[in-house]
Amino acid sequence: MQPKDVPAGAPQRWDDPAPELETAARPNAAGMSRDQLRELVSALGEKPFRADQIFEGLYHHRWTQWSAFTQLSKDLRAKLVSSVDLQWPEIVESAVSSDGSAKHAFRMRDGRIVEGVHMPYEDRATLCLSSQVGCAMGCTFCATGKMGILRNLTAAEIAGQVIAMLNHHGHPPGTPVNLVFMGMGEPMHNLAHVMGAFDLLHDPLGLAIPPWRVTVSTSGLVTGIQRLGTFKPRPRLALSLNGTTDEHRSRIMPVNRVWNLDALAQALQAFPLEHDELITLEYVLLKGLTDSLEDGRRLAAFAKRFPSKINLIPFNPHEAGTSDGFEPPEELRIGQLSRLLSNQGLIVSVRRSRGQDIAGACGQLARKRSAENPAK
Ligand code: SAH
Ligand code: SF4
Repeated sequence: MQPKDVPAGAPQRWDDPAPELETAARPNAAGMSRDQLRELVSALGEKPFRADQIFEGLYHHRWTQWSAFTQLSKDLRAKLVSSVDLQWPEIVESAVSSDGSAKHAFRMRDGRIVEGVHMPYEDRATLCLSSQVGCAMGCTFCATGKMGILRNLTAAEIAGQVIAMLNHHGHPPGTPVNLVFMGMGEPMHNLAHVMGAFDLLHDPLGLAIPPWRVTVSTSGLVTGIQRLGTFKPRPRLALSLNGTTDEHRSRIMPVNRVWNLDALAQALQAFPLEHDELITLEYVLLKGLTDSLEDGRRLAAFAKRFPSKINLIPFNPHEAGTSDGFEPPEELRIGQLSRLLSNQGLIVSVRRSRGQDIAGACGQLARKRSAENPAK
């Protein structure tokens, strides 16, 4: 079924909710919520407090073998070994950039592959996560958009990318992390599972990631933005604006034909912000298309309609995008636009995407069609 907010012309495959991946297999504790763990331990004839011990082992200590859960009784450990899997998404391929960031390919239990990026900053890390296998939105400049949509990820698979990357890079428990949903997929098309992962990840007994360190980026699904605003706590919001007139934006982001710039601005004005909270406006600079000084002035006017900060993102070239004629802006123009915006009192940063030499930067995440992710 195609939801009505997927623009005409967008790729046609769509699965919502995520498939019940666990029906045939043994239960997999990796990615279970506290409630699910309570059910699991009760089915094993154990007391409820055991669920919290397992939760802490899974998400705080990030243990990957039942043998590490030494606070559990020997008897319970034996039951877990014999009947419950502990299987996180597996990192099957990694590429490390000269700037220190690393792109990882994760294989899910059904064989599907998504990508994520680990970006270290001194004693902390920023993790770029995928929410779907592919994306239905069909933005013309984006490599993921070219894949089409294969399926949603479950909450367990989304949280699993975090656990797998933190373990892979040897971060001790308690390492501060930022999470950005800027990998593959449109998070608002999978909000239930994105929020399920958020609940797992900010639970104080687990990773305890503060809500303001998690950012969900959307291409502009107004109903999704409204729904996100109803959760408490909730992640921060980023909007991929990428165009300052409806004509230009609709050309590169088909979703703009469903919700145009004015509808977006109204949704952002109505978004219930917390004290000091800002909405991030991401703005991809495409040479000759979105990077004129006029664009800069219109972007400033849009950004002033609600509390915001602007992130200018020079286009990251990728094979499909370059062959369609998209190019990064001139350095000079990036500087001019950045000054134009800050001279108007706006908060602006230029995202020098990390991992470009490994095709690990935003918008470059796209698994080539393969045995795992075949064209449908
Ligand atoms: N689907 C969501 C989140 C994933 S895309 C969204 O669109 O917001 C994350 C960011 O990467 C978006 O701001 C998107 O505009 C940007 N992006 C996509 N392709 C890009 C490219 N080739 N170069 C630079 N940024 C790109
Ligand atoms: Fe999907 Fe975001 Fe890429 Fe658009 S920019 S196709 S919404 S991942």
